[in-house]
Amino acid sequence: MTLAWERQRLIQQLRREIRDERVLVAMLRVPREAFVPEHSRHLAYEDIPLPVGHGQTISQPFIVALMTEALELSGQEKVLELGTGSGYQAAILAELAREVVSVERYLPLAARAREALARLGYRNVHIHEAEKALGWPQDAPYDAIIVTAGAPRIPQALLGQLALGGRLVIPVGSLWEQELLKVIREEHGIKVHNLGPCRFVPLVGEGAWGEAEDRYWGPSAPDF
Ligand code: SAH
Repeated sequence: MTLAWERQRLIQQLRREIRDERVLVAMLRVPREAFVPEHSRHLAYEDIPLPVGHGQTISQPFIVALMTEALELSGQEKVLELGTGSGYQAAILAELAREVVSVERYLPLAARAREALARLGYRNVHIHEAEKALGWPQDAPYDAIIVTAGAPRIPQALLGQLALGGRLVIPVGSLWEQELLKVIREEHGIKVHNLGPCRFVPLVGEGAWGEAEDRYWGPSAPDF
């Protein structure tokens, strides 16, 4: 079975729960195998997260689809991603939005993601090294923000970078399990929807988890 065939099979499977056809088409276009380590390419179209080094993971395809759908992208948006990781989610966003800004804490991951995205010809993704403050206020406001690491609470700093009417999708909970939240910024506050349980590596930074929690988490996943 070729990887292209396996990709189609995976998207068929996602179709049962994901309604936004644009998201499914984007996932058909992006080769996930280009974002996973050489030795796990044969697993690229299993619906599971995979280690990408530094104790971090590329998210499960179903979660990528669910989070992307929740952002409600139509093509004109400027989107912020926290946690570039492999760059796969950024590629999906690049298919669906005008401009993608993505920040990553680990420089080697950022460099590898940049390379993978360039090789595939994506020009509307800008990857930056994360700073102390969460997000990338320099280019705010964003129409949509996606956080692909788990936070202890909804970070105020990110609400401040979200445009009025913008959507923030973020896993919130403990280090071990979170609820996927969709937060909509309204004129007089926010509206929050719970999309269900999930499990992400920790978001580390001001207003999120500390370095110590990341070290605790990190060694459990093998590097490559
Ligand atoms: N979206 C990724 C998966 C990311 S895993 C993909 O498609 O492959 C979560 C990533 O978040 C890790 O690489 C981790 O280093 C990064 N991260 C954690 N805290 C962060 C922060 N405050 N800012 C930016 N990146 C962060």
